[in-house]
Amino acid sequence: MLNLLKKSFNNECPNCNKGKVFQTKVFFFSPKYSKMNKFCASCHHKFQKEPGFFVGAMYVSYALGIAEVLATFFVLGLFFEKTFDLRMLPIIATVIVLLTFFNVRFSRMIWMYLFKN
Ligand SMILES: [Zn+2]
Repeated sequence: MLNLLKKSFNNECPNCNKGKVFQTKVFFFSPKYSKMNKFCASCHHKFQKEPGFFVGAMYVSYALGIAEVLATFFVLGLFFEKTFDLRMLPIIATVIVLLTFFNVRFSRMIWMYLFKN
């Protein structure tokens, strides 16, 4: 499992682990959307198996977003006296916006590794 996450973070092709899936290396915040390669440069594996293949990655992205909201909420709980303070909302929203690029890339990588066969 950890090996799979490491390969996903390293932007490696799910088929050969040599080619790169995304054209840019920047995994976190980037001013422009990072494009995916259509095929692996090393093994010619087609990343988008069928039209709409990555629609399912939205569910993974949603789960990542919920996990990030909960993690941010619990960390913020250390700094606020009340269990839920309204001042937490803009901070949580900022974290989610900043992690959008990460979520898109990481959810697609997880989705490809789930259905690599
Ligand atoms: Zn490959």
